[in-house]
Amino acid sequence: MLCAAIEIERAPVIGSDEPCKNADDVFRSMPLLRCIVVADDELRPIGLILRNDFLLQLSQRFGRALYENRPVRQLMNSSPIIVSESEDFDAFVRRSLTSGQHEIQDCFILTDEDGRYRGVSNNKAVMTALLDTQGALLSDLESSKTLLMAANERLGLEVGERRAAEEEAIKASNHDPLTALFNRAPFVAQISTWVTAGEPFSLIFIDLDGFKTVNDVYGHMAGDYALKTVAERIQSVCGPAICARFGGDEFAMAIHGRSGPDGAAKLARAAHELITAPFRFARTELRIGASLGIAHSPAHGATPSELLQAADMAMLRAKRGGGGIRVFSQDADGDSRSARTHLSDLTNAIRTRQLVPFFQPVFDLGSGQLVNHEVLARWPDAPAPLGRPDNFIPMAEREGLIDDLFWLVFAKACHAARKHDPALAMAFNVSARQLQNPKFPGRLLAAIERFGMDPSQFEVEVTETAMIAEEKYADSTLRMLAAEGLTIALDDFGTGFSSLAVLHRYAFSKLKIDHTFVRRMTDDARSRDIVESTILMADRLGLQTAAEGVEDAATLDLLRAAGCDLVQGFHLARPDAAFYQSRPLAATQAACA
Ligand code: C2E
Ligand code: CA
Ligand code: CA
Repeated sequence: MLCAAIEIERAPVIGSDEPCKNADDVFRSMPLLRCIVVADDELRPIGLILRNDFLLQLSQRFGRALYENRPVRQLMNSSPIIVSESEDFDAFVRRSLTSGQHEIQDCFILTDEDGRYRGVSNNKAVMTALLDTQGALLSDLESSKTLLMAANERLGLEVGERRAAEEEAIKASNHDPLTALFNRAPFVAQISTWVTAGEPFSLIFIDLDGFKTVNDVYGHMAGDYALKTVAERIQSVCGPAICARFGGDEFAMAIHGRSGPDGAAKLARAAHELITAPFRFARTELRIGASLGIAHSPAHGATPSELLQAADMAMLRAKRGGGGIRVFSQDADGDSRSARTHLSDLTNAIRTRQLVPFFQPVFDLGSGQLVNHEVLARWPDAPAPLGRPDNFIPMAEREGLIDDLFWLVFAKACHAARKHDPALAMAFNVSARQLQNPKFPGRLLAAIERFGMDPSQFEVEVTETAMIAEEKYADSTLRMLAAEGLTIALDDFGTGFSSLAVLHRYAFSKLKIDHTFVRRMTDDARSRDIVESTILMADRLGLQTAAEGVEDAATLDLLRAAGCDLVQGFHLARPDAAFYQSRPLAATQAACA
């Protein structure tokens, strides 16, 4: 029996649809692992991934970008040797050693009698077992000897090949496989030598704006293409400067001090202009923004990491200003030292599902009845300055985290609603970026169905800036949702510049008047005028009106007199972790009536 004779290893098993990056993670976490077995749902092996072959594919030019998200079946060996563990050892050895082709295989898979995966083994184990049991093969000694020698020779060859592959991988590891630029390590090594030698130089840190959107909307191929385009453009202006990709959408350049701060500024301007120029992908014109930060050595830091941090902070200041170029300044960037950590705090909070939905009820002003709840994101354990949605929502939008944030809050809200009252209506704030994604409506409708809820229970609130900025996609996205029965509300009305007549073209059936006007209604005639005329106009256009930010009874009276349909505000109920309970409804009805 094979299983009794040879050493069997338990290689990990992976499904054939899993992305290659999962296999990559497994190999990285287990440096001695030679192979991963690909099996179907019933644990029947269908393929084998050999470490060296696999890593070699990934380390090739564009290999990682190409395969990272593809299913492992594309990189597996789909005809591995599969043997039953109960097969006779001698028979197996004879068969495999004399079949010529199979013996080259590194590993083979063992199954039980039902064909289910049991483990893997390799020719070395067979050789060892063979030597142990050579007595049984004495009659075949001569031929075994030759075969053994041949196999040994092959093993030697394999070791050589493996070494060559490792060397290749080390060489490749100084370069980013996608763009062929240097990666961080050689870049930092270069600036370290300058720092040590006391030679002045300037660092330019580049972070793309809107890259994640390109990736999300047009797919990874477009994302990769964009990164390669940016890399080529950076390289075409860099001259004697060295440039690198730090990972993701971050790039860096270092220019030796001979050309001074002016030289760095000039280089940054040229790079910015070129990076942000449009490019074409699959007949679509795409454009990517960029934020650049400059730091000079030795003025802005004594070590490579201090200098990189200074350039990074200047870059973040540029980003906050909507892109462009900034030079590090102790005054302006002094307290933004934590901006980076804030970003990683937020990323981490979303990843670990720390954000929660709060619910603020909206009432019908005529009847006092509860109409729905607006769902507002909260981050209970946020570090101090970030706690308010007004702070972390714009950061999430800027950094491309808003979609993840939305789905987290959405799922938690739906779970809560289903427990509390499956017929409950909820309104969600949807950001401009999400409307750009043509897959958004489909995903939303599918999620609603999965929760066993009805589209008519849902409302989507979008701001007019979303409409103006992303009109092309936003319009069709909203129409699709409206056609399925969702209510579409125009949020924050009054804070932008568009006229109601223009906005009426879209799929809105409700208009929310921004709280900045509502709150000032009682003591500012202009705000009152704006609210009243908005209600009048919306009414003519057949739109429902909702006033948010109702903080007192006097405002409620004014809104009632103006004919407003719906109201929301601290006077009626504050946003809360729980849904509005019917208990205080009487009080609300009294307030509304
Ligand atoms: P918004 O959509 O205008 O939401 C209404 C805001 O007004 C909420 O602020 C709410 O707490 C506040 N509010 C309600 N009644 C009153 C009142 O009587 N007086 C005053 N002073 N304020 C009142 P919040 O929760 O701080 O949210 C701020 C903004 O953050 C929201 O403004 C919305 O644009 C955004 N936001 C919140 N959650 C999400 C989310 O999950 N996704 C997206 N994309 N944006 C969100
Ligand atoms: Ca809103
Ligand atoms: Ca609003």
